[in-house]
Amino acid sequence: MQKEILKLQNITKFFVESDIPAVNNISLTLQQGDILALVGPSGCGKTTLLRIIGGFEFPQTGEVQIGENKVCSPNNWIQPENRDIGIVFQDYALFPHLTVEQNVAFGLKNSDKNQIKQRVSEVLNLVGLGKFATRYPYELSGGQQQRVALARALAPKPKLMLLDEPLSNLDIQVRLQLREEIRDILKLAGTSAVFITHDQEEALAIADVVGVMRQGHLEQIGKPEEIYSLPASRFVAEFVTQANFLPASRKGNDWETEIGSFEIPGNYSSDTGEIMIRQEDCILQADDDAELKITKRRFLGREYRYCLETPSGREIHVRTMTDIILSEGTFVQVSIADDAMKIFPEEG
Ligand code: ADP
Ligand code: MG
Repeated sequence: MQKEILKLQNITKFFVESDIPAVNNISLTLQQGDILALVGPSGCGKTTLLRIIGGFEFPQTGEVQIGENKVCSPNNWIQPENRDIGIVFQDYALFPHLTVEQNVAFGLKNSDKNQIKQRVSEVLNLVGLGKFATRYPYELSGGQQQRVALARALAPKPKLMLLDEPLSNLDIQVRLQLREEIRDILKLAGTSAVFITHDQEEALAIADVVGVMRQGHLEQIGKPEEIYSLPASRFVAEFVTQANFLPASRKGNDWETEIGSFEIPGNYSSDTGEIMIRQEDCILQADDDAELKITKRRFLGREYRYCLETPSGREIHVRTMTDIILSEGTFVQVSIADDAMKIFPEEG
């Protein structure tokens, strides 16, 4: 059976000058060996929550447990350096006057020089920088510097890694490659991790568990597939899947919208709401009598992205394979599998 590596209970944090909590009553658990990605828009409290786990911020209420140890509770406080964590920030924060191996050795408190040397070379190999041990940070690319930061954090074999947007400063190419590598490296090291990002695709790709945050709250937590296919709120659906939404009202078993009527099974408390239509779930067919008009088409390599205008002037975005091409200005009929749609109550 897996063990819990991190347990947060009812964490709330207000900053002095604000009466809105930056972190609002968050509880969650993470199993040993898992990677949790916390995702949400800028300002939703991700960094604050990570700093609370790390011991750099003090919450007004709540408890933090790392492994077997309560590290923060009303009558207990453990300093960051005694929490058995490794930290990687967005700006690599390497020591510029130290070489790669000196940077990595920095956190190792071992009196045996040989053991330090061995551990440094072990983690540098793990992050693929074995050949760069004697270089200085300025002699490395951004992606390589971030891998040094990762090696430095991993070197003392922490129980838990905390990564705050570690890929945000990198070019897209490097970012995509390094996100795969970071996952592999953490898995090889067997280290549990909390990984913060504002990029929903990055969160889904890197994590075993995704937590979606909004205005200090944890809106939903679950496996990437669950979050994607069963979003718990309109916010999660919009942020994570970038779905379209249209007003809908119920007539019997059908939900009527300005682009057609759809049968959507399920119990709903209200007869009005918004229908979620994912960009990749639509099939388009040219039809002169239809009322949806293609206003834009963009070629994205593997797919087309269409922008459609509804009779009321709303925009719907659709992504399709490249086997059928429809021109801008064409009127189209859209069909969607009933089980791909979902109704959300309207948000005030
Ligand atoms: P995120 O990392 O998701 O972008 P943050 O945790 O940095 O969000 O910020 C959450 C909220 O707390 C924001 O409204 C931010 O302005 C506020 N905040 C963060 N740090 C401080 C601070 N040191 N003092 C006052 N307010 C802060
Ligand atoms: Mg942040």
